Amino acid sequence: MVFRDVVNVIQEFIFPPGAVCPACGRAGTPRQLCPACLKAWSELAQGMGICSHCGRFGNFLPPAALCRDCRTERPPFSLARGVAPYEGPVRDALYLFKFAGKQELAFPLGSLMAGLARELFPRRALAGVVPVPLHPDRERERRFNQAALLAAAVARELRLLLLNEALFRVRETPSQTTLSGASRRVNLAGAFSPGKAAAHLQGKGVVLVDDVYTTGATAAECSRSLLAAGASSVYVLTLATAVLKEGNRQEES
Ligand SMILES: [Zn+2]
Ligand SMILES: [Zn+2]
Repeated sequence: MVFRDVVNVIQEFIFPPGAVCPACGRAGTPRQLCPACLKAWSELAQGMGICSHCGRFGNFLPPAALCRDCRTERPPFSLARGVAPYEGPVRDALYLFKFAGKQELAFPLGSLMAGLARELFPRRALAGVVPVPLHPDRERERRFNQAALLAAAVARELRLLLLNEALFRVRETPSQTTLSGASRRVNLAGAFSPGKAAAHLQGKGVVLVDDVYTTGATAAECSRSLLAAGASSVYVLTLATAVLKEGNRQEES
């Protein structure tokens, strides 16, 4: 066997023939992001700090290292964290996942999220994983809830209960993008309601899963609802998190 054959055998072992990275289409392992994607994703956050409470990227002053929103009014969850900044290749991957039929991305994206949860959240305190719900009309239109697909992958990997019926969106809300912070909160007030699966959460912690954390209004309102239903604490887990340039208004996805 000449050297080239050995290399080919090794390459086929690492990257099965025809298998491509579900995010960028380069040769890769099925159901995983390729090394080039992982490198690009990790580079996005280089040199950036994060808000110690909501996890948004930016440069915040120690010792508290809180963003302006969290300094003004701390959102009711215990902690929120995302895998990577909502920029460049991460934004592209989420677009493919939500709008271009690449639902198989739920597995690699959910797996990255589960890794982060394992590192940061107190696993023993957790009862289950709850996706941020879509309104039924919106879900029919899109044919799936992206947060529910991610939550299923996260729950499977962390061996936690998937509680799809713990929270419902009872009211569709107008787009958040044109509203100020206070108006967003009024806009979302009462939009979510706990369902029967919330009974599993009594006195326990829960992981709330969404694809992106931007203003945090949705995560805060869902957390309020879960805490009112009896959960002891809410840990918010997203794939992407906004980068804050303090003074700029962030858009809600
Ligand atoms: Zn890739
Ligand atoms: Zn914050």
